[in-house]
Amino acid sequence: KPIQIAIDGPAAAGKSTIAKIVAEKLSYIYIDTGAMYRAITLKALTEGINMASNDEAGQLLSKTEIDLQPSGDGQLVFLDKKDVTEAIRSQHVTKAVSEMAAHEQVRQRMVELQQQLADGRGVVMDGRDIGTHVLPEAALKVFMSASVEERARRRFEENKKRNILTPLEELQAEIAKRDKMDSERIVSPLRQADDAIFIDTTDLTIAQAAQEILKLAEE
Ligand code: C5P
Repeated sequence: KPIQIAIDGPAAAGKSTIAKIVAEKLSYIYIDTGAMYRAITLKALTEGINMASNDEAGQLLSKTEIDLQPSGDGQLVFLDKKDVTEAIRSQHVTKAVSEMAAHEQVRQRMVELQQQLADGRGVVMDGRDIGTHVLPEAALKVFMSASVEERARRRFEENKKRNILTPLEELQAEIAKRDKMDSERIVSPLRQADDAIFIDTTDLTIAQAAQEILKLAEE
């Protein structure tokens, strides 16, 4: 019987790479919830709204359509019907996303969408609040982390493939800042759920980490 698998953890811990592999092996759908927060942030930046304003964020939300579609190697992200899968990965969006994701109205709407997408299906969902808020009944919850140095190094390598050339030190500072904001926000902050299993991926390969989760999913 298909189950729900929740994977949470700080920025660039390898969640999405590993979640994708696990989903593929189990023939489940994969949902990267960070992409939704990134999409609304991209729109906020494009429209030049004041990101600190609850009201402006709420208004923006009411005229925005975000849609995720499973695709061959992961997921496609649509913002008002336009494919923004690549655009949401820019450093500009990355730097702004935690402020946008702290708004209660934004979170409520995204969580609703996420729960609809997961309803009644085998799913691997990654984010910050999946085990604690979005899928509290998930059969398997994993909290994945790695040292901040290792996470910055991995993001650096990943960025290279996208021709994003932010220096390593800057990436590390950005990751640390985002983790702090995500952990300190009032509404569903980044937390390990009480019933989540902790996996430190600092010294694991992608394949090893995926294998560990697949083993847990079989139990
Ligand atoms: O996973 P990713 O790094 O793409 O997430 C981008 C940002 O979206 C996070 O830093 C966080 O601010 C927000 N986020 C969130 N809750 C989630 C997923 C992402 O607040 N479930």
